[in-house]
Amino acid sequence: MNNKKSLILVLAFAMVILVAGCKKTEPQPEAAAQDFKWQIDQFADLRILRYQVPGFDELPLAQKELIYYLSEAALCGRDIITAQNYKHNLTIRRILDAIVEGYKGDRTDPQWEKFMVYTKRVWFSNGIHHHYATDKFIPGFTTDYFAMLIKESEGVEFPLAKGQTIGDLIAFLQPVIFDPTVDAKKVSQDSTKDLVTESAVNFYAGVTQEEVEKYYQRIRDENDPTPISYGLNSRVVKKNGKVVEEIAYLNGLYGPAIEKIIYWLEKAAGVAENDQQRKVIEKLIEYYQTGDLEKFDEYNILWVDDVGSRVDFINGFIEVYSDPMGMKGSWESVVNFKDLAATKRTETIAANAQWFEDNSPTDPRFKRKEVKGVTAKVITAAMLGGDSYPSTPIGINLPNANWIRRTHGSKSVTLENITYAYDQASLGSGFGKEFSYSEEILERTKKYGAQAGNLHTDLHEVLGHASGQLLPGVSPEALKNYHSPIEEARADLFALYYFIDEKMVELGLLPNLDAAKAVYDNNIRNGLMTQLTRIQPGKTIEQAHMRSRALVSHWVYEKGKPENVISEKIKDGKTYFVINDYQKLRQLYGDLLVEVQRITSEGDYETARDLVETHGVQVDQELHKEVLERYSKLNLAPYGGFINPVYTPVIENGRIVDVKIVYPDDYVKQMLRYGKDYSFF
Ligand SMILES: [Zn+2]
Repeated sequence: MNNKKSLILVLAFAMVILVAGCKKTEPQPEAAAQDFKWQIDQFADLRILRYQVPGFDELPLAQKELIYYLSEAALCGRDIITAQNYKHNLTIRRILDAIVEGYKGDRTDPQWEKFMVYTKRVWFSNGIHHHYATDKFIPGFTTDYFAMLIKESEGVEFPLAKGQTIGDLIAFLQPVIFDPTVDAKKVSQDSTKDLVTESAVNFYAGVTQEEVEKYYQRIRDENDPTPISYGLNSRVVKKNGKVVEEIAYLNGLYGPAIEKIIYWLEKAAGVAENDQQRKVIEKLIEYYQTGDLEKFDEYNILWVDDVGSRVDFINGFIEVYSDPMGMKGSWESVVNFKDLAATKRTETIAANAQWFEDNSPTDPRFKRKEVKGVTAKVITAAMLGGDSYPSTPIGINLPNANWIRRTHGSKSVTLENITYAYDQASLGSGFGKEFSYSEEILERTKKYGAQAGNLHTDLHEVLGHASGQLLPGVSPEALKNYHSPIEEARADLFALYYFIDEKMVELGLLPNLDAAKAVYDNNIRNGLMTQLTRIQPGKTIEQAHMRSRALVSHWVYEKGKPENVISEKIKDGKTYFVINDYQKLRQLYGDLLVEVQRITSEGDYETARDLVETHGVQVDQELHKEVLERYSKLNLAPYGGFINPVYTPVIENGRIVDVKIVYPDDYVKQMLRYGKDYSFF
């Protein structure tokens, strides 16, 4: 269990469509998808994608305007996250930007390419540490080359301190950039050492872990039932020997950027969709004006209650993953609007939840008499900012404060246009072609994969987890360490069992049952083979979702052998798993669902253990080796991020009459433009 309350699903792996987990994707018009260039750059272990914002053009003018203002507010915090990540990040980024703009020498030199890779990585991570691993990455060029680039750059300014020469600046930055031992880790997890001094992240300066702990012990009120999120929007430093907090607000830390954020939020408040939304925005402004964390809580409560608005956003110091002490929020923003069609889909499923429960093959004793599906809102991301750019979550569940979640609830959303972009990009990556046995299977995946993948996730989340009940007296913790893989298998089997049911077509959730085959193909291929790309050689399967997929696929493969339901085929020395009988496979999924529901309802630990250990953990070494070799030849970058669209207001007679959206395709240009237009301190 993760003790953090908030759930941010970060997509770390490239082969999304074939590794469907608890995530969502978005079906969209074929034409738009085909002509659109999804991936625009790849370097180091990163690739840069674009996302579409379907439905934006059809929004009413006021909502377009609202998105435009909120988007500007999202972009104005870019330097805050860069500064938060490490104290020298902004200086370094400004030098890199200036060199890219002004270098007059040879840009075909191999060192130049290495310089650009380094620069692009710094942009991607909002700093010099890897966005995911948090290790400092070291340039592939020399210090001398770096000094030469600076000297041969013309017509640009370098960020010199008072009295500092270019030579001083280079000498100062040499260890910061090139020495792997200096500030090596952004976030240290090594609790045997001082977490604060060992972490390069800029939430603390000149203080030790003990001093930070003492400081917060002193100001924290342990008896407060509604405590503020202590330390969320500040930096702890030592001034004249005293430990103090520098608060981020209009007249404080990061003030010049916050001033701009407030400016755009005020414009946004002026075109709010309704009173509730206006109150949300106004409260956020008040919080930024004062830095008062009680106002941030008030804002969060208003925000949770605002479920009626089409447009929504987050903007602030929110997730605490980058603080080794788990208190300080990284600045981020995501602007979005509700995807009505997709939300209607989850509502349709939820409305029929009782039918699915009643007709499932499980023992009536284990069925829920009254089942309510859980609907999550599906959204379209319109702008990513701060810590959510370019690397972005695919699901958001906020606010983080426990007492607010308990008394006011939380909002959970999935960003479908983002996962859709991942899916589309991976279709062109060669992954599907490599692991599909036939053209027919590949074509089916291309045609229905994204849409069917969405529905699979919906059925899993809305119905699967919500179905079934425990027998009286059975503890929810009875399955202990096997609880998670069994629970995931149960939800997935519920979804898989119904996938190829006529009811799907009847409810308008699938165009035909051929689409269902795409999900079965994917599920078998992934569970038996392709998910092994995420496992290191010699290791076993650890992660709960992966164990669940392996156990389900191996179980049905074994049980179906006498009737040849699934067969292993070798073509040109490559292994494939091919489904021969989809209806029989459905029956096998149903059989396993019956058993897994029984295990859950009765709390049968022994059988749970046997099932998981026999089918869900071990890896066939030979097959693993083959899969890794085939995968590495595809040369796919494991981490992805996005560039943003550009919104331009159309002004007539001093008034906005429309907002146009365009999708740029140049990562370098966007980063340089952001560096110029959104740098305020
Ligand atoms: Zn799940």
